[in-house]
Amino acid sequence: MAYKLAIIGYGGMGSWHHKNIQSHIKEIEVTCAYDIRPEVEAAVTAAGIRFCRTLDEVLTDPSVDIVTIAVPNNFHKELSIAALRAGKHVICEKPVAMNAQELEDIMAVSKETGKLFSIHQNRRWDKDYKIIQKLLADGTVGTPYYIESRVLGSRRSLHGWRGYKVNGGGMVYDWGIHLIDQLLDLIDSPVVSVDAHLFSIFSEEVDDNFKTFLRFENGISATVEIATNCFITQPRWHVSCTDGTIEIEDWDCNGKAVKLSSDEQMTWDNDIVYTSAGPTRTMAPRPKHTTEELPLPEVTADWSNYYENIAAVLDGRAELIVRPEQALRVMKVIDTIFESQRKGCGIACRI
Ligand code: NAD
Repeated sequence: MAYKLAIIGYGGMGSWHHKNIQSHIKEIEVTCAYDIRPEVEAAVTAAGIRFCRTLDEVLTDPSVDIVTIAVPNNFHKELSIAALRAGKHVICEKPVAMNAQELEDIMAVSKETGKLFSIHQNRRWDKDYKIIQKLLADGTVGTPYYIESRVLGSRRSLHGWRGYKVNGGGMVYDWGIHLIDQLLDLIDSPVVSVDAHLFSIFSEEVDDNFKTFLRFENGISATVEIATNCFITQPRWHVSCTDGTIEIEDWDCNGKAVKLSSDEQMTWDNDIVYTSAGPTRTMAPRPKHTTEELPLPEVTADWSNYYENIAAVLDGRAELIVRPEQALRVMKVIDTIFESQRKGCGIACRI
């Protein structure tokens, strides 16, 4: 195998990286892992790789080419910089850092050392996102003007360190970052305002639910919403376009696109329509024959595409897909979300 990889932080996501690379990426071999908790040794050795008792053991190992960092968010900056300075290529979990300034510090070291730095924004390869990306690129239902992207849960709990401010807990960093990364990837235009509403319904220190409105310079607006206290769900995506509407209900990608097939002049018998809400012309149901229901397109994508790209970049066969410059825009939006919440109003910006 061409590249040897070490994992820092062998918890939920660190062990997932191991399994994913092992089963999908033939160019990369995971050889060792370091975790601050010595009791993780048993799981690491049971998974067939070497457990490192110190960070130095990983960083001074000349056989290690790539380091994947999968620890709580507040440690991302110092570990990324240490690994880059040790001459390793670095993949860092999301959120790449606690704020834009921390990422700029990492990027400066990546530039200085000439080592690759990328962020595991794996949800760019989610099927639901790929479907939206395809439908909008093909113009199937015209041009988008309002995009609603949401993930709503009701478990009312934040796992482990996610409940603590010092660790970069909360839903903006945890899930918001994925949805904002997708939107910035989807919409080729600067963000010109951010209006965020963060809620701490059961958490004592971090946001456990939030809604954010983003306005883009090209006229598209978007809502990003994450809930952990929502008992009646709403669609994962609802996209308003000039000639139709797209809805994806869930991660299984149930949903449809409805396209306007005839814009014939709507007329009303007796000049009024009676509905259960009383007489209304504008909101009366549209005749069925004037729209066409389209199934969602088939797409192929999965998270291992991320590491396929990393291997191809290191081989000089491809351009990096998840670039630090893109993550910097995402972090600037996140910084502005927190600023909007602090000030209690929308913030004009150009990101
Ligand atoms: P986790 O708590 O399951 O695992 C974290 C591991 O890091 C633990 O084993 C812990 O002992 C270890 N650790 C903590 N501090 C350390 C340090 N300074 N040095 C070495 N090891 C340390 O957490 P998780 O759910 O795996 O999350 C880890 C990272 O992965 C977070 O940044 C999180 O946001 C990210 N994550 C990403 C996705 C995704 O889909 N991209 C999904 C889940 C988590």
